[in-house]
Amino acid sequence: MKKSRYNQIANRTRQITDKILWKYNIGWQDYQVQLIIDDFKKQGVLFGTYNFDKGLGVIGSTFCHAGRAKIYVEPMYYEPRQNFTTVHELGHYILHVNENTEDIFDGIKPMNSTTEIEANIVASRLLLPDRCLINALKSDWSYLTICKTFGISQSALFHRLEMDSLVYLRTSKRTAEQGANNLRRRTRDAYRKTAYDFANNLSRRMIEVNSLCTY
Ligand SMILES: [Zn+2]
Repeated sequence: MKKSRYNQIANRTRQITDKILWKYNIGWQDYQVQLIIDDFKKQGVLFGTYNFDKGLGVIGSTFCHAGRAKIYVEPMYYEPRQNFTTVHELGHYILHVNENTEDIFDGIKPMNSTTEIEANIVASRLLLPDRCLINALKSDWSYLTICKTFGISQSALFHRLEMDSLVYLRTSKRTAEQGANNLRRRTRDAYRKTAYDFANNLSRRMIEVNSLCTY
């Protein structure tokens, strides 16, 4: 993925989450992705469950017909999986779906196409907005607490830290991976300093490159 595209998707998603955080004056600790889903509902996006044909292995779908966007999620999977599929589909809706595009179907096996990677980036950022990530790291929340509180998987958070490091802190791939590993595996005292420094650098760089983001 090109850094410029990642930045573009991050900005687009940040506009959506910041709108909710600021408009409703919600503290970063009280953020829930359901607020975003409810906001899209208000804008006319229809969310529902649908029992897809088992043989197809479909877990979610997004499409727009007759001016109405619809997101359907297969209800047979456990709730965190359904929640992730819902925000992944929202990613497709935000980036890829309009009246002229084909319906999108997501299967149980994740695919590595560009659109799938992009929808996952949106999903990660809707679950955990930058403001929440930065404040949680500065407030000494553990890696696992961040994952549990915001409903983001450990691997998705790892990938997020890696990409933020590459794109905003302009580190090498190796340094980005080491940094994310440090945050995932460090003992409490070492974690505190690493997490604070990372969050501090990240917020400083984001303010420098993006006027939307003021913490
Ligand atoms: Zn998808």
